[in-house]
Amino acid sequence: AAKEAGRNGYHFHSPEMNRKAHERMELEMSLRQALERDEFFLEFQPIINVGGDCLVGAEALVRWQHPAQGRVMPGTFIPLAESSGLIIPLGEWVLRKACEKMKEWRDAGLPPVKLSVNISGRQFEQRNFTALVDEVLKETGVDARALQFELTETSLMKDAGATVSALYKLKELDLRIVVDDFGTGYSSLAYLKNFPIDHIKIDRSFVMDICDDPDDRSIVEAIVAMANKLNLDVVAEGVETREQRDLLLDLGCHEMQGFLFHRPLPEEKFVELLRDVRLCTLPAAL
Ligand code: C2E
Ligand code: MG
Ligand code: MG
Ligand code: MG
Repeated sequence: AAKEAGRNGYHFHSPEMNRKAHERMELEMSLRQALERDEFFLEFQPIINVGGDCLVGAEALVRWQHPAQGRVMPGTFIPLAESSGLIIPLGEWVLRKACEKMKEWRDAGLPPVKLSVNISGRQFEQRNFTALVDEVLKETGVDARALQFELTETSLMKDAGATVSALYKLKELDLRIVVDDFGTGYSSLAYLKNFPIDHIKIDRSFVMDICDDPDDRSIVEAIVAMANKLNLDVVAEGVETREQRDLLLDLGCHEMQGFLFHRPLPEEKFVELLRDVRLCTLPAAL
């Protein structure tokens, strides 16, 4: 029918649109099976304290090894997982896998590195989310202080009341909370005061042009100053050049993550790094 319409000059759905919609549907179907087929895996991107020249921890980033399409990046499938609800089981898989890896590494005698896990707003809205987190920590024997959650401003602002109580429950477990992609959420800054937040991560979009765009530079400067006043740690993501690195240091931002230091690493490479890296803090109890 689409072809006929095309021939007559009326096409409500262009072949291109049909193809896209079809691809999306297929991707969603294979996403459903991907968990059972164990097609997801994690990569780990180191977070460095550049001033102190030590490893703060790493961010766990999910990847999908699609049987036909090869590696699919989260920018493609996370939105799909969110709209289809699959983010709930996928997010649980990521959390559990990150904790299992921490346990494996610790059992292998590697230094107790901290991992940051991205949590989607949809997961966070689950009633029993804190219970799930508690359960995974107990199952894997991981110390909650070795785990931190990255939540975007947008997901934090959805339902401020529910968010505050969920965050306090996570704090009771001793988890650290990071605001991811800070500065991109069009949100009130009041939440920084009202929510138990430990850390903000300056979005890559501000870091990108920091050397050329005085406005971006001022924004980063203001974020760092505010973080210092509020006693929040601050980390910059997407650092790609030495110039960005040097400028960030000048502005008082010491923690950085980006291709300049390391790309997200496959587990073997990350473990290699762990073998001879210096961790920034080694809490005695961990
Ligand atoms: P994000 O949390 O802001 O993660 C950082 C993204 O920036 C990663 O992309 C990382 O590879 C990329 N990146 C790091 N350093 C640089 C750099 O120097 N330059 C550039 N150009 N990019 C850099 P990735 O892995 O494709 O992830 C994209 C987004 O997908 C993440 O953004 C996060 O929002 C989401 N995501 C990834 N893993 C998960 C997950 O397990 N759960 C959920 N809910 N979301 C996830
Ligand atoms: Mg993140
Ligand atoms: Mg980020
Ligand atoms: Mg980002």
